[in-house]
Amino acid sequence: MTTYGRFPLALTRGAGCRVWDDQGNEYLDMVAGIATCTLGHAHPVMVEAVTQQMQQLHHVSNLYYIPEQGALAQWLTDHSCADRVFFCNSGAEANEGAIKLARKYGHTTLGIEEPVIITANASFHGRTLATITATGQPKYQKNFAPLVPGFHYVPFNDGDALESAIAALNANGPRVAAVLLEALQGEGGVNPGNVQYFKRVRELCDRHNILLIMDEVQVGVGRTGKMWGYENLGIEPDVITVAKGLGGGVPIGAMLCKSSCDVLQPGDHASTYGGNPFVCGVALAVCQTVQSAGLMANASARGQQLRQGLLKLVDAYPQLFEQVRGWGLINGLVLKEDAAIKSIDIVKAAIEQQLLLVPAGPTVVRFVPPLIITEAEIDESLKRLAASINNIV
Ligand SMILES: *Cc1c(COP(=O)(O)O)cnc(C)c1O
Repeated sequence: MTTYGRFPLALTRGAGCRVWDDQGNEYLDMVAGIATCTLGHAHPVMVEAVTQQMQQLHHVSNLYYIPEQGALAQWLTDHSCADRVFFCNSGAEANEGAIKLARKYGHTTLGIEEPVIITANASFHGRTLATITATGQPKYQKNFAPLVPGFHYVPFNDGDALESAIAALNANGPRVAAVLLEALQGEGGVNPGNVQYFKRVRELCDRHNILLIMDEVQVGVGRTGKMWGYENLGIEPDVITVAKGLGGGVPIGAMLCKSSCDVLQPGDHASTYGGNPFVCGVALAVCQTVQSAGLMANASARGQQLRQGLLKLVDAYPQLFEQVRGWGLINGLVLKEDAAIKSIDIVKAAIEQQLLLVPAGPTVVRFVPPLIITEAEIDESLKRLAASINNIV
């Protein structure tokens, strides 16, 4: 089906931060499968883990104990504020699980008949019916009504707005079960959360027994220079959803929660593929490598180098660019609203210069390279980007 607007490129091979098309042209990959190929392409650790796991056992069923799933759950709970893990296959599915958990928590712990989940404008939580409803962007919801009931939207980074929304919804007794937020809004424009705001969100959630769910699908597993996006905000969530970077490119998602809100019981939720030996064995190798190979420190240093380079472009083209924002290796070059070009124009021009980039909305060019990217590769990417912009202005 024609669900994707694709660029005219067929990619056939990859190594590290580079990919090649079917004509043999090489590209620097600052997309990484949209913040997914944590270790880049054909990383020896992944090749080894995929091969080993395939030879040993790749899929059984959650009817049985799966040691690789246990080991990955152990690693995730050892390296986060969560105690429990449910495995699935994608970010949308992880958020579906979190929505179900929040609703059951609302029913059974708070005695709410029709629990409400508050989300933010310009958020992105996935493409299933419940997650497009949670997503605070009408363009993803258009033509798919009726949406799922039980969601309410507030502006991001606005503590007063959240406080009034909770007060209004809870005016005649509790109705709000959860607040679902990204630490940094990825798809919605690479928009980092504010520390003061998240402190206030945490306080409001504590005061009203509301669950704080952090969607870490795009920023989790080291991308921001810390293991989790929430670590940049000085708070701990109750529930965490993760996918993209977790498997380094094999399809895996997970929902994590603290034991205090683990209300799900046998029979409540399930997935056939979720947490099979193959994806868990590979994801564990990816996570251990992020931790042990200094990749979070690399994300911080390379991110700083990239932002410095991008700021020079902002200075060079004040009529085009407004600012640079981001954490670690998730960054956005922000165009002015009235600039003569849109993010897609830069992305297309960059392909001509053999550099892969991805828009985050019409006015933001997003940079989410593999966490293994080197100093020389950042410099090379900045050169190719400068040439791309020079070609279209
Ligand atoms: C990509 C993304 C999702 C959806 O993940 P899928 O694996 O495409 O379902 C959800 N939340 C955030 C923050 C994302 O970036």
